[in-house]
Amino acid sequence: MKEIMNQEQISRTIKRMTHEIIEKNSNLESIVLLGILKKGYPLAKILQKNLKDFAGITVDTYPIDIKAYRDDLDTHINKVNQGFNLDKKTVIIVDDVLFTGRTVRAAMDAINNHGRPEKIELAILIDRGHRELPIRADFIGKNIPTSSKEKVIVDLEKQLVTIDE
Ligand code: 5GP
Ligand code: MG
Repeated sequence: MKEIMNQEQISRTIKRMTHEIIEKNSNLESIVLLGILKKGYPLAKILQKNLKDFAGITVDTYPIDIKAYRDDLDTHINKVNQGFNLDKKTVIIVDDVLFTGRTVRAAMDAINNHGRPEKIELAILIDRGHRELPIRADFIGKNIPTSSKEKVIVDLEKQLVTIDE
C-alpha cells in the first residue's frame, strides 16, 4: 500500500478543482453537480461546499446511480434516480476515479432521461488511465498512471488516497 495523497493534499486538490470550475463556468447559477454513487457523491458534496465558500452560491447536488445503464454489467437493478430536471443546466458529473470511462458513459445515458443539459462536464479526483472510450475529464485532481491490476483506494472519510499493488 503506497500513499498517494494525504489529507492536506486532497483538500488542496479539491479546492483547486473548485477554482477551476468557477473559472471555466461564467454562469455558476446553472451548475448541477451529479455525484456517481457511491464514492462520487461525497466528493460532489465537498465541491458544493467549496463553491458556497468561494463563490457564495449553493448549487443543486444529487447522487446518481448508474448501475442500470452499464453495458458491461449483467444487472437488472433499476434504482430510480431522484426526479431532477437538467434542462439547460450545466451538469458536472463527479466521480472519485476515472478508469475505462464506461461509468461516465453510463452516467451520460442516465442524464438523457432528465432533460437536455446546456453542457456536461466531468470532474474526477483520480485519473488512473486505461480508457476504453473517447472520454476525458475537464477537472482532474491528479493523474496516477496505474497497471490494470493496481487499485486506487480513495477514502474521503480518512482523507487518504493510496494505491494497492
Ligand atoms: P470505469 O467505469 O471508468 O472503468 O471505472 C470508474 C468507476 O469504477 C468509478 O466509479 C470508480 O469508483 C471505480 N473504479 C475504477 N477503478 C478504480 C480504482 O482503482 N479505485 C477506485 N476506488 N475506484 C475505481
Ligand atoms: Mg464508483
